[in-house]
Amino acid sequence: MQDPVVIIGAGPIGLAAAADAAERGLPFVVLEAGQDAGAAVAGWAHVRLFSSWSELVDPAARRLLEAAGTWTPPDDSGYPTGGEWRRDYLQPLAAVLASTPGGSVRYGARVTGVGRAGRDLMVDSGREGDPFAVHVEGPGGPERLLASAVVDASGTWTRPNPLGADGYPALGETENADRITYGIPDLADPASAARYAGKHVAVAGKGASAQGVLVGLARLAQADPGIRVSWLLRRPSVGDAFGGGDNDQLEQRGKLGQDAKAAATSGLVTQVTEFRTESVTTQDDGRLTITSTDGQQVTDVDEVIVVTGFRPDFGFLSEVRLDLDPALGAARVLAGQIHPDHHSCGDVEPHGYKELSQPEDRLYLVGMKSYGRAPSFLAMTGYEQVRSVVAALDGDLEAAGRVELVLPATGVCNGAGAFDDATAVAAAPAGGGCCGPSPSEPQLVVVGGGCG
Ligand SMILES: Cc1cc2nc3c(=O)[nH]c(=O)nc-3n(C[C@H](O)[C@H](O)[C@H](O)COP(=O)(O)OP(=O)(O)OC[C@H]3O[C@@H](n4cnc5c(N)ncnc54)[C@H](O)[C@@H]3O)c2cc1C
Repeated sequence: MQDPVVIIGAGPIGLAAAADAAERGLPFVVLEAGQDAGAAVAGWAHVRLFSSWSELVDPAARRLLEAAGTWTPPDDSGYPTGGEWRRDYLQPLAAVLASTPGGSVRYGARVTGVGRAGRDLMVDSGREGDPFAVHVEGPGGPERLLASAVVDASGTWTRPNPLGADGYPALGETENADRITYGIPDLADPASAARYAGKHVAVAGKGASAQGVLVGLARLAQADPGIRVSWLLRRPSVGDAFGGGDNDQLEQRGKLGQDAKAAATSGLVTQVTEFRTESVTTQDDGRLTITSTDGQQVTDVDEVIVVTGFRPDFGFLSEVRLDLDPALGAARVLAGQIHPDHHSCGDVEPHGYKELSQPEDRLYLVGMKSYGRAPSFLAMTGYEQVRSVVAALDGDLEAAGRVELVLPATGVCNGAGAFDDATAVAAAPAGGGCCGPSPSEPQLVVVGGGCG
């Protein structure tokens, strides 16, 4: 029997890859470390997406779900939260995939290693013809699965960048972990908001997620004037943070940028620029002092929220041959188009199996992981990636090469605005995106946070 395609991760892109495989009758196994589908999305369940439903459902998955007859399609024009994306799409899709002949979706199954069966990284001979050996830590203990191909859609969510500017945790960061939150706390939830009541909060990061945190804290501060915020930015100024490109585009940024700008200039937030964190120390009174590499200090800090982006985990790929951009850890061909230092909010060329292929034959990094550390990725891009990759794995090079990446006329930045305000998102003017719309061109949205 043919070894299955192993798909790492039951996130939106891993499940889309499985839907493509199911449609083509390719055997597949999805291995998911979490306990159900969309485990990473669950980490930001309260965040409202920039994209509408029409941009968040993979075409092959839609066909599969509709054929199953048990799915109620969401209204294409709505903007779900991460939690709704999971509940109304990812989880029903995973259930259908799990009952597909030749397919399985396994939870609590963490991939710990991918290699060529019987051949470590050094061995050249016979490499291409051999199956992969996928090492898994599952509910029943360690396992080794053989795979005809591996599609790594494990995302980056589990590996947030640290506060430390060197790329490693700052001195004292680990020791003070109980006061540091990575990611996007749900500040509309009274239980998580209570943590910040009356506190001095340092927020590190500059992207949309960091701005969402500033907006959330500003809302809390309306009822709790004791809250104050220090916004730590690595760059000399906020620059284009509230827009998508340069300062001329501020008005086109959407509601989030505007709300964040209002929060940042409200007196609640003290901007601390050119701040590259070196250490976090505990004061005598138990509060924290954060010190930068050039000796600036932010004192009397109670809580820190780090929203400085994410990075992929290559630890379990050490026995396969990869060729990645050295700065981003992204597919090389994509790097020039997505590097946040050179790119604000422009186009990503259509791409598929050719651009994503690695020196290790039949191994593909897709989805958020294919962008490495770049804080910009769209689900639609990933859906197109896996459509092409799975077609190539099926030997259908005509379909695989026919890569198209066409986003709707309104663009994807356009509907954006408030992460947590559905009406504002839906009401955002068509054509008012952060990039300045281009009807048929893909648009980028920065979600990961950026490093200031
Ligand atoms: C706050 C936020 C808002 C966003 N908003 C939008 C938006 O509006 N529009 C848009 O198009 N995109 C948006 N994105 C970007 C992107 O579409 C999502 O991040 C999407 O979830 C990426 O899908 P993925 O499948 O590549 O990765 P993930 O969703 O991260 O899924 C990866 C899965 O792999 C699992 N996994 C990880 N490691 C292993 C392992 N070793 N073994 C087994 N399983 C593993 C994880 O548990 C997870 O379930 C947003 C992202 C964030 C963070």
